[in-house]
Amino acid sequence: MTAPRKPLIVITGASSGIGLATAQLFSSLGHPLLLLARRLDKMRALNLPDCLALSVDVTDRVALAAAVQQGEARFGPADAIVNNAGVMLLGEITRQDPEQWDRMLDVNVKGVLNGVHAVAAGMVQRQRGSIINVSSVAGRKSFANHVAYVGSKFAVHGLTENLREELAAHNVRVTTIAPGAVETELLGHTTDAAIKSGYEDWKTAMGGKVLAAQDVANAIHYAYAQPDGVCIREIVLAATRQQA
Ligand code: NDP
Repeated sequence: MTAPRKPLIVITGASSGIGLATAQLFSSLGHPLLLLARRLDKMRALNLPDCLALSVDVTDRVALAAAVQQGEARFGPADAIVNNAGVMLLGEITRQDPEQWDRMLDVNVKGVLNGVHAVAAGMVQRQRGSIINVSSVAGRKSFANHVAYVGSKFAVHGLTENLREELAAHNVRVTTIAPGAVETELLGHTTDAAIKSGYEDWKTAMGGKVLAAQDVANAIHYAYAQPDGVCIREIVLAATRQQA
C-alpha cells in the first residue's frame, strides 16, 4: 500500500537562497511543491519530483493567484505558503533612487500580501493551513542605510501579526520568520558599492559565519511541522556572533 501523498507547499522566491533551500528541504520530506520566482531556469534546474515551477513576479497579484490555482489543480489544496520573495536595496536616504524604495515596498510588502490573497480564502474555507512570511531582524530593529528595507520588513512583521489574529479563529496558522544575516544573493542587488563592502566587512567581523540558507529552511520547517493545534508565531534566528 502506498502512503498518502503529503500536501502542497507553495514557496515564493524559490530560485535562490532561503527559498531554494526550503524547496529542497520540503521536497526531501515528500511534499509536492509549487515554486514561484521570475527565473524559471534556476527552479527547473533543481529537478525536484512533484514540482511545478512557474515564472511569476509576486507583484503581479493576478498572476500569483492564477499560479496557485494551477498548482492546486495539480497537487490539491495548498497546505502552506512560504512568502519569501524579497529584495534588499540598501541606500543612504538622501542619495538613494526612490525607485528602489518602490521596488522594496512592492516586492517585500505587496508581494507578501499577494501571496496571502492567493491562499487565505481557501484555507479559511478548509479551516486549515499555514502562512509563513519571511521578514527579517530588520523587521524588529533599524540598521544604517536600511530605511526603506527596514520599513518594508516592519510592515511584514505588522501585517503578519494582524493576519495571525484574524485567521486564528479559522484554525489557520500564521508565522513570522525573522533571520539575521544569511549568505545568499540578497546583498548582490544593492547598487551602492561602499555600502555593499561595509556590509561584507560586517559579515567578516562575525568571523564570516553568518547563517546558511539551510538554517532558515530548517526554522521554516520547524514551524510548519508542529501539530495542527500549535502555532509558532515568530522565529528570530541569527548567527551566534551577530550582535545587532
Ligand atoms: P536571494 O536574493 O538569494 O533570493 C531572493 C528570492 O526572491 C529569489 O528567488 C528571487 O527570484 C525572488 N524574487 C525577488 N524579486 C521577486 C519578484 N518580483 N517576484 C518573484 N520573486 C522575486 O535572497 P534571500 O534568500 O536572502 O532572501 C529571501 C528572503 O529572506 C527575503 O525576503 C529577504 O528579505 C529575507 N531575508 C534575508 C536575509 C539575508 O541576510 N539574506 C536576512 C533576513 C531576511 P527571481 O530573481 O528569480 O525572481
